[in-house]
Amino acid sequence: MNTKIEIGFSWAVTRLSPADEVGFSALVFTVFNHFFVARSSTLNPTAAPSLSAARNSLLVSKSAQKTLRRFLRKCCLRGMKIYDITVPLSAAVVEWPGDTAYNFSLTARIRDGASCNVGRMVSSMHFGTHADAPFHYGETGLTMDAVPPEIYVGPARVLAVPGRDLITIENLHEVDPTAVTRVLLKTGSRLDHTIFPKKIPVLAPDVPAFLGACGVKLLGLDLPSVDQVDSKDLPIHHALEKADIYILENLDLSAVPPGDYELIALPLKIVGGDGSPVRAILRTLK
Ligand SMILES: [Zn+2]
Repeated sequence: MNTKIEIGFSWAVTRLSPADEVGFSALVFTVFNHFFVARSSTLNPTAAPSLSAARNSLLVSKSAQKTLRRFLRKCCLRGMKIYDITVPLSAAVVEWPGDTAYNFSLTARIRDGASCNVGRMVSSMHFGTHADAPFHYGETGLTMDAVPPEIYVGPARVLAVPGRDLITIENLHEVDPTAVTRVLLKTGSRLDHTIFPKKIPVLAPDVPAFLGACGVKLLGLDLPSVDQVDSKDLPIHHALEKADIYILENLDLSAVPPGDYELIALPLKIVGGDGSPVRAILRTLK
């Protein structure tokens, strides 16, 4: 039997009465035969009774049904991990100097007699973890609603580039960004989001074209900008646009080991938007 199922099964039977165990075993075998026989599993299709017979044998016990649900969840989710790489939307997090601060407040409260709690939010689009729309750095650039959502969903590689003021092509060669369409750079230089940094690592001018030639479509960083914080002409933003690469900023990659993941970091469909907050997660691939 598949090791994952075996472990989950051992876990489950320790939580069942002997009477439930018989029905539970039958149901588990039936369910997994159903899913795995077609994929040449070693489970024996003749070992289990019909699904309805097995289900009926369990109907008497709610606790057995609950155990089965948790068992199936363990089998399906074991090994998959989700990293939340989003900086919380909170007034404790510092905004870009001079930009609109984040503010959330409740305009209606149940405790004050309202039928529900209702909040409102005021924020720069570039507060916390966010996507930059090309309109942010070019008058004719795409606005947030026009950027294809598929840019922000799919395979992504986290590359560690710690302790560098300038991130060069050579640094990226060490970690091979080829054959990936989304690259997330973990500089490790910003761990405290309540303080705005005076200086941050930046990409060397030839890195955007290099990444573009590698087929990269999205660059994310654990930094508030892809350019130096006092830059006015934003050369790296423009070079990335020229290379057809979109940008995610202020990711929290502090807990994420370098490697390959699935990224989900969808911006809001803000018509005319220059950017958008995102809820960014990385999901392990196995
Ligand atoms: Zn931004």
